[in-house]
Amino acid sequence: MKLIRFGAAGKELPGIEDPTGKRLDCSSFGEDWNESFFENQGLERFRDWLTIHQSSLNEIPAETRLGSPIARPSKILCIGLNYRKHAEEAGMPVPEAPILFMKASSSLCGPFDPIYIPRNSTQTDWEVELAVVIGKRAKYVTKENAYDYIAGYCVHNDVSERDFQLRHGGQWTKGKSADHFAPLGPYLVTKDEIPDPHQLSIWLEVNGELLQNSNTGDLIFDIPTLVSYVSNYMTLLPGDVISTGTPAGVGMGLKEPRYLKPGDRVRLGIQGLGVSEQVAIQDPEA
Ligand code: ZN
Repeated sequence: MKLIRFGAAGKELPGIEDPTGKRLDCSSFGEDWNESFFENQGLERFRDWLTIHQSSLNEIPAETRLGSPIARPSKILCIGLNYRKHAEEAGMPVPEAPILFMKASSSLCGPFDPIYIPRNSTQTDWEVELAVVIGKRAKYVTKENAYDYIAGYCVHNDVSERDFQLRHGGQWTKGKSADHFAPLGPYLVTKDEIPDPHQLSIWLEVNGELLQNSNTGDLIFDIPTLVSYVSNYMTLLPGDVISTGTPAGVGMGLKEPRYLKPGDRVRLGIQGLGVSEQVAIQDPEA
């Protein structure tokens, strides 16, 4: 299944994209795609509900805004330097254990919303990533059992302000957490549709130029390792996101480093997980 959320920001309704690409309004199911939904076997219940109701659901008008495919989760966790060539372009050693940092959940936005360039930003950068969405409470999970705790996968742009991230003291969170720094979607693809998340092409373009082009098979630490690793330090709640790291080709890593300016168009995708697109604008409040 492909879960979507649609409508005005903050007032999104739940829906699906069906196998023919039609978007259907599932608000009559009566639940949002949130922690409580995943926690209470929502995916199974919703699947049963769909078999009865799918033929009578209304199609969503094509121009309708998409929001993040999941409601704001308790945590967005990110993994740093999880592709070898990206570690090299960042001038950092290949890590011996996953590098873990947090991204404010308030940075979440829709897959086609603008990227906001924050106040005083000079180095707003892009990072296409495969995001894992947790399906049930995960604490001290083993690698062997990790897939039991996964609901599905999404495309994520881990937008990053390099100056805030690397030169304002402390650790990376400040450079990762501005509003609209986490466009997620277009949809959450449930894990049954992605038998192996480690053989998917992953790419990103800026203004039509292909800058990131890799495969999730190149992850240094694979998805079961990451779910297990993080769950040994904190409890993952249903709906939480682990973003698995970005391949080479970010603006900071180019021969002539390049950052987003208003009007730049970022397009990104992962095989089987869809394509998203954002235009950079100055944060209207900046
Ligand atoms: Zn990242």
